[in-house]
Amino acid sequence: MTAPDPKAAPCPICGQPASPRYRPFCSRRCADVDLGRWFSGQYRVPSTEIPSETDEKYTRRVDPDDEVG
Ligand SMILES: [Zn+2]
Repeated sequence: MTAPDPKAAPCPICGQPASPRYRPFCSRRCADVDLGRWFSGQYRVPSTEIPSETDEKYTRRVDPDDEVG
């Protein structure tokens, strides 16, 4: 539509003018970077704390006895 708004906040990752499409980032790459940071910061789940109930159900769907022979 129009040229990038000069008043728009710059990309928080690299400081370049943000792209309307990837706001508030300048590109998808920077958006991914931010997402990665967010994940590593918020999603620190200890691998041993996860209940394996769901996992068990999933494994049960696959029949281990279904062997060929
Ligand atoms: Zn950027």
